[in-house]
Amino acid sequence: MPETMKAINVTQLGGPEVLTISEMPIPEPRAGWVRIKVQSVGLNFADILNVRGEYLTRARTPFVPGMEFSGTVDKLGEGVTHLELGQMVAALGAGGFAQYAVVPAAAILPIPANLTAREAAALPVSYYTAYFSLKTLGHAKDGETVLVEAAAGALGTASIQLAKAMNLKVIAVASTPEKLEIAKNLGADHVFLSGAENLRDLILEATNKRGVDIYLSVTGGHGFEDRATTFMNALGRVMVIGNASREPASLNPTMLMKKNVSVIGVWLTPLLQVSEIFLEATAFMTPLLASGAVKPIVGQVFKLEDAGKAFEHVFSRASTGKVIIEP
Ligand code: NDP
Repeated sequence: MPETMKAINVTQLGGPEVLTISEMPIPEPRAGWVRIKVQSVGLNFADILNVRGEYLTRARTPFVPGMEFSGTVDKLGEGVTHLELGQMVAALGAGGFAQYAVVPAAAILPIPANLTAREAAALPVSYYTAYFSLKTLGHAKDGETVLVEAAAGALGTASIQLAKAMNLKVIAVASTPEKLEIAKNLGADHVFLSGAENLRDLILEATNKRGVDIYLSVTGGHGFEDRATTFMNALGRVMVIGNASREPASLNPTMLMKKNVSVIGVWLTPLLQVSEIFLEATAFMTPLLASGAVKPIVGQVFKLEDAGKAFEHVFSRASTGKVIIEP
């Protein structure tokens, strides 16, 4: 067993140029933790913001990015008895941009055997966020309509799949016809270009003038207030999940009164700590994943050495599905 591994150790916040390979000691799992030999890492928009120093919480250097990954169990910390060496797992944690990573045993996710390592790495962040947004906080009800933004992206494709599994009507928006094709193939009922000048009319027409019941807001910025009010049905729920545009947005709260619209913030990290809702989401998704009804969409795959290119690919809006990085 070697003593060192390749990893991306961020010593200075910034863009893709700060992602260089270092040689680091292989981490040891402490009691209750597990070491994973990393096979695939899911790249999230949040990883990019984190490395840039623009995330919800400010990153402290040095750190190894990578919050979701799959691989095999390589070493068990003291007291961990329910996992086997060599078992394929996925994990939500930190430090995935490396050949080995350690996580608490509680951060290991059950992975159906039919998923590839890449699909398993694409699962945790997007699917739990989609579930919590639609169901736990969005209270989706059978037959309601949901508006999915950035619909061909990692979260967007997960949201379409889970929304269809919840029997929701899906209106998908994205920036290019190619991205709309991906959304359509996943079962979106209506697809519209996000830049369409008459987007509001198209959405009202698609909903018999009612508007959408749930709006999964990930783009933010310009036009947010319009989307969060005039696009909404009575008692609609605006789920504020992201601000990929990185533009400021404004909202006059009195505009929400007319239709009793709620605006709800969503952040995956603290929700994962509530075991009751984590288990509920897992119970909903596991059979869908095992049957193949729901399948993570893997986008372009990059080597660890090319992590900077992977960041650029997502940040420039060129990506679809979940971009994967492999050490
Ligand atoms: P995606 O795979 O969806 O990629 C980002 C997409 O955002 C782009 O493809 C693009 O889609 C859209 N976008 C719109 N404006 C811009 C812009 N100016 N620059 C770049 N992209 C833009 O990424 P993720 O699935 O990782 O994340 C999607 C969003 O959800 C992000 O805002 C992220 O921070 C958020 N998120 C939040 C979580 C939470 O806990 N709250 C958890 C997971 C994700 P298009 O070209 O179609 O507009």
